[in-house]
Amino acid sequence: MQLILSLQDISYAYHNLKGETPALSHISFEVFQGEFLAIVGPSGCGKSTLLSIIAGLLTPEKGDLFYKGEYITDCGPGEIKQIGYMLQRDHLFEWRSVYKNVILGLELNHTLTQENIDYVTQLLIDYELYAFKDKKPSELSGGMRQRAALIRTLATHPDLLLLDEPFSALDSQTRLNVSADIAQIIRKTNKTAILITHDLSEAITLADRVLVLSKRPASIIYEMPIQFSVERHDPMKVRNTAEYQLYFNQLWEVLTNEQPITQPI
Ligand code: ADP
Ligand code: MG
Repeated sequence: MQLILSLQDISYAYHNLKGETPALSHISFEVFQGEFLAIVGPSGCGKSTLLSIIAGLLTPEKGDLFYKGEYITDCGPGEIKQIGYMLQRDHLFEWRSVYKNVILGLELNHTLTQENIDYVTQLLIDYELYAFKDKKPSELSGGMRQRAALIRTLATHPDLLLLDEPFSALDSQTRLNVSADIAQIIRKTNKTAILITHDLSEAITLADRVLVLSKRPASIIYEMPIQFSVERHDPMKVRNTAEYQLYFNQLWEVLTNEQPITQPI
C-alpha cells in the first residue's frame, strides 16, 4: 500500500495576548492510499487544528509533515492541490445554483475543462442531484446539501479528503444515512479520507482505523483498526453486529479513562 501522508512528532500551540494555548502534542501517524481514517477526541482537544496543519492552513511549530514522501511542512494552503477539505458547515453559496456551486473549485483553479464538466455532471447524476442542478442550495435537504458539498470537493480530483465533522449539522437519522452514503462514495472513488468526528458510532461505522486523541493538547492515546464481517453500506446492519459493540465499548473506555486499557487489537 502506498504511503500518502506521514506526520512525525507534530506539536502546535496558539499564541495570543493572553498567552499560549498548546493544542497538539507530539502527534505521529501515517495514512495509506485508499484508507478511511477517523480521528475522535473530546471537544476542543485540537482536532480541527490537526486538520488545518495537514491542509497547510497552519504551520506546525515542531515536527514534520510528508505527502507522498515529499516534505510539505512549510507548504502554504493550496500548494498541495490534491487535498480536498470539507467542513461542518457546507459553505454552499446561496446565490449560486447547485451546479454553479459544484464547479466553483474548478473555476477558481482555472480547470473548467469539458472533461471536468463531464466528471461533475456524472457525479451529480450518480448522487441523485442532477435534477436539482439549477436549484438554489436553500431548496435542498440537509443531506442533499452535504452531497453537493462533497461533489464540489471531489470535482478538483483530490487524492486526500479532509472531513471536519461534516455531518454534525444534520439531524441524527439523516446523519446516519448521509454519512453512510458519503463514505460509500469515497470508497467507490478509491479516495483516501481523514474524518474528524466526536461521534464514536460514526467513527466505527465508517472508518478502517480510528485514532483517539486525549484532551488538549491532543496526543494520540489509542489506535484501533476496524473490521466487520458484514457489508459496510448498511449502517444499521453494522451497528447490530457484536464487533460493533466491542469496538464501541473499547473506545468508550479509552475516552473515559484517557488511557489505553489494553494494547490495540
Ligand atoms: P476541536 O476541533 O477538537 O474542537 P480545535 O482544534 O478547534 O479543537 O481547538 C483546540 C484548542 O485551541 C481549543 O481550546 C481552542 O479554543 C483553541 N484555539 C483554536 N483556534 C484558536 C485560535 N485561533 N487562537 C487561540 N486559540 C485557539
Ligand atoms: Mg473542530
